[in-house]
Amino acid sequence: MKKIIGIDLGGTTAKLAILSYEGQIETKWEVPTSTEDNGAYILPNLQASIEAKLAELQLTKADIHAIGMGVPAPVKPNGEMSMAANLGGFGGFNVAESFSTMMELPVILDNDANIAALGEMWQGGAKGAQNVVMITLGTGVGGGVIADGGIIRGFSGAGGEIGHMPVVCEEAYTFACGCGKKGCLETVSSATGIVRVAKQMLTTHSAPTTLADVQPLTAKAVFDAAKNHDVLALQVVDYFAQTLAKAMGTLSAVTNPEVFVIGGGVSKAGAIIIDTVAKYYYESVFAAATNGVKIELATLGNDAGVIGAAYHAHTYQA
Ligand SMILES: [Zn+2]
Repeated sequence: MKKIIGIDLGGTTAKLAILSYEGQIETKWEVPTSTEDNGAYILPNLQASIEAKLAELQLTKADIHAIGMGVPAPVKPNGEMSMAANLGGFGGFNVAESFSTMMELPVILDNDANIAALGEMWQGGAKGAQNVVMITLGTGVGGGVIADGGIIRGFSGAGGEIGHMPVVCEEAYTFACGCGKKGCLETVSSATGIVRVAKQMLTTHSAPTTLADVQPLTAKAVFDAAKNHDVLALQVVDYFAQTLAKAMGTLSAVTNPEVFVIGGGVSKAGAIIIDTVAKYYYESVFAAATNGVKIELATLGNDAGVIGAAYHAHTYQA
């Protein structure tokens, strides 16, 4: 059986892996991402690195079935990638086609949030499920929605942008979002959003809290304090969980996922996330959409991208 290649192209480094056709990582490595000259060196650097790795492993292109690649920008079904600000403006052309010509191999391109969801569905926290919502809680909130085994992309590729679901109603916590609107999920449930809510609560709260002395205040510090029963921190976590559960409830009513997978830096807080979110989710969302639904932490960590990208290579048919 031929092997497959997964690439997770990020603004600082590209993660690459050669996997078995069944999806087990056999070799993985990283290449720094050059953002000079509008990213003109990105594809040549990836090509050189892959060719060197294949030679090192005494493999040839004939041993490879296809290449899957995730990029930090919207991608059209034909492989055309939008310009990515954090890749120095790289994009604006059919990256899949160009890289395929260079590599003399099929290349399937997709958005990085989508490939993370596919990775968790194939080999991670949602293994075996066909209906999955991946929620990535990082600096922002990213998402990937898989319905009946396929990614929901929507009319303009914005399907699954769950960070911008308008779910905040409380005036005190209605903050401006980077997208230009107000009250988006990520304004309160991302790492930066959790800090924003904590700062807001600190201005009105009178009970003693350890958070007032934490410099700089981070989402991790909030979760650590909550685990130590700090009253204010528990309120921040509670609000975070309530808002996220509301978004998940809305998603359940639309696509009825079997598993929600929660990943990203914030998810490193662990069980406290699942426990608090589950409490509000099962309590407030109608039973037909939540019965048997699981909420899991992501299990693939930084490998989700290469594995999900490789999933596209795995399913590629000439
Ligand atoms: Zn927004």
